[in-house]
Amino acid sequence: MSSLPAKSFAMVQTGDRILEPRDIPIPDIDEDSALLELEACGICGSDYEQFDGVLRTPTPVIPGHEPLGRIAKIGDRAAIRWGVEEGDRVAVETMLSCRHCPTCLDGRYHLCDDRKIYSYIPLTESPGLWGGYSQFMFLHGNSIVHKVDPDIAANIAVIFNPLGAGFRWAVEMPNARPGDTVVVMGPGQRGLASVIALRAVGVTNIIVTGLAADAEKLALARFYGAAHTIDVDNENVVHRVKGLTDGKGADIVVDVSSYATKPVADALQLVKVGGQIVLAGVKGFKAVDNFVSDYVVMKEVTIRGAIGVTSSGYKQAIKVIESGEIDFSPMHTHDFELKDAELAIKTLAREVQGDESIHSCLIPPK
Ligand SMILES: [Zn+2]
Ligand SMILES: [Zn+2]
Repeated sequence: MSSLPAKSFAMVQTGDRILEPRDIPIPDIDEDSALLELEACGICGSDYEQFDGVLRTPTPVIPGHEPLGRIAKIGDRAAIRWGVEEGDRVAVETMLSCRHCPTCLDGRYHLCDDRKIYSYIPLTESPGLWGGYSQFMFLHGNSIVHKVDPDIAANIAVIFNPLGAGFRWAVEMPNARPGDTVVVMGPGQRGLASVIALRAVGVTNIIVTGLAADAEKLALARFYGAAHTIDVDNENVVHRVKGLTDGKGADIVVDVSSYATKPVADALQLVKVGGQIVLAGVKGFKAVDNFVSDYVVMKEVTIRGAIGVTSSGYKQAIKVIESGEIDFSPMHTHDFELKDAELAIKTLAREVQGDESIHSCLIPPK
């Protein structure tokens, strides 16, 4: 076992829109836990909401819930339970569940009654290193980790997180099959991940929607295999989808757009009779204008909410990344140094003049 440094450099959120560099003592671990030495941590849309204070978090806190790294130290029992050893590269799941409440035992561990989420546990809760904006992270005994091929570049391997969402939300939950027409609303990293996941299971009739400002992302959606893209600022999305489906509408609609509520109302109109809508984009708790529930009744539409990703989605994502068949470099637009976490968040949120990221990650110092 290599010796660990005494402290981990981390970016700590101490209030709304305040991130501060800190050196935090690296704790001891017990039989059931481990320490992760991060190689990369993905930047999520929700990181902006956490930074901005929309998603309330107890502070001080280390954000970052998309970690990829090496097992730096691991307790004997954790090594056996997780099937990993020191030096292994792993992707870490975001949710920490209790494993014994009725919901966990029912197999829906991501909805655990006593759920904790990495990056939302305050620094004051021992041992403190609960987030990925750090050199080292504490892995609680209830963590779920997945081995990842160490030969893949870290900034690409860390795409396991958004791609896992693509598999769960666009493929698994609506049971998408070849021949289905799927509308993906929103061309950000999770929209693109949905396209990649759908293509991986043989779905080709994929339509992606976005704003006029999303022209480059819509072009990327076509690069990854979307058959059609729609600029909702300049085209009528309902008419276009109807036109592309002989008036029937889409089998499946997946909404991964954030803040905008119009896609939800549109989805009800463009989904076909008996179709499915998966809602995964959060809207800042805004009500949806023009939500006509009669469409749900008359067309017998199934609407499902999707929060987070579970092991099967991550496994499929890692398999696709390890296959080397997909060129992720066009969607991975930015690496940021860990100390530049604020810039990374703002670049994703279009708060940086003249620059915008799609998939991006933080790289900690060696
Ligand atoms: Zn995330
Ligand atoms: Zn539970």
